[in-house]
Amino acid sequence: MAERPIAVVTGGAGFIGSHMVDLLVSRGYAVRVIDNLVGGREANLKHHGSGAEVTLDRRDIRSLAPDDSLFAGTRFVFHFAGIGDIVPSIERPSDYMSTNVQGTVAVLEAARHAGARKLVYAASSSCYGLAETPTREDHPVQPQYPYALSKYQGEQAVFHWGKVYKLPVNSIRIFNAYGTRSRTSGAYGAVFGVFLRQKLAGKPFTVVGDGTQRRDFIYATDLATGFLAAAETDRSGEIWNIGAGKPQTINRLVELLVGHATYIPKRPGEPDITFADITKIGRDLGWAPKVSFEEGVGRILAEIDYWREAPLWTPETIADATKTWFRVLSGERQG
Ligand code: UDP
Repeated sequence: MAERPIAVVTGGAGFIGSHMVDLLVSRGYAVRVIDNLVGGREANLKHHGSGAEVTLDRRDIRSLAPDDSLFAGTRFVFHFAGIGDIVPSIERPSDYMSTNVQGTVAVLEAARHAGARKLVYAASSSCYGLAETPTREDHPVQPQYPYALSKYQGEQAVFHWGKVYKLPVNSIRIFNAYGTRSRTSGAYGAVFGVFLRQKLAGKPFTVVGDGTQRRDFIYATDLATGFLAAAETDRSGEIWNIGAGKPQTINRLVELLVGHATYIPKRPGEPDITFADITKIGRDLGWAPKVSFEEGVGRILAEIDYWREAPLWTPETIADATKTWFRVLSGERQG
């Protein structure tokens, strides 16, 4: 039998990364995951059958050596490792810059030394700030908080390595990702985790504002096919937006999850709509989303037990957790 091609997935035990691992395994790859298991979980890699070749290296990406053996012989590198969430990034900006920028540099160096054929970076649509919609890739960049800045600077490093060292790279700017295994612990954020736990507890969903705001939710398996296409293409040096291109209201989400709502204040700087213009990725890579919002929410509800250990947020604990957010983004000087 021919040797399996190798792919490295950083953050492969995390939410989106583990869906990437699934797709690569199904395509016959031997997959090497590096994940420090802070956000990721080993259990996210446990469902593969005995025929699969998936290894987990429990390290922080910042510990990678340029000639790290983990990357030896790899064809593709998918870089998902990093830290997310707005509130902690406002409170601990240095950690975000270190992991998301310096960590990306460590991954780039390892990919360069290994002679990888392509590195695909998981970028964030948060770089666009309060954006015109539908948002195209040439929209001005205006990060509004340290998380957004760190992901954008990581992306800049990726293109720098592409230009200076001729490492073939592409970047995909993700809109609102959702799916099974979406993060269940830690900081307040990501509406799905919040609502699913509330549903399990029989508590009302904490809807921000009046729930008419819309988000361009994109299902994790659709993200994975986009990332693989971005690796397989001959193109490099490209940015693609990825979303469903079909924003959904929070009220619609409440309807699909079935439950009652309670209303909490809008957050400063929160966009009324996120909406990816996905013309470019469709044209360049022939990619299109396959999972409808109804189907995606259905798949999550079928696995709702996964969120049983997640923190249960209430209007009071949310108000407390978002205090710094309200203070910092309201425009006062922060000493
Ligand atoms: N949201 C909500 N209740 C919550 C958390 C979030 O209604 O407890 C809404 C929020 O207003 C936003 C959407 O869900 O419109 C997505 O929020 P998330 O924090 O997941 O992503 P982002 O705001 O960064 O797009």
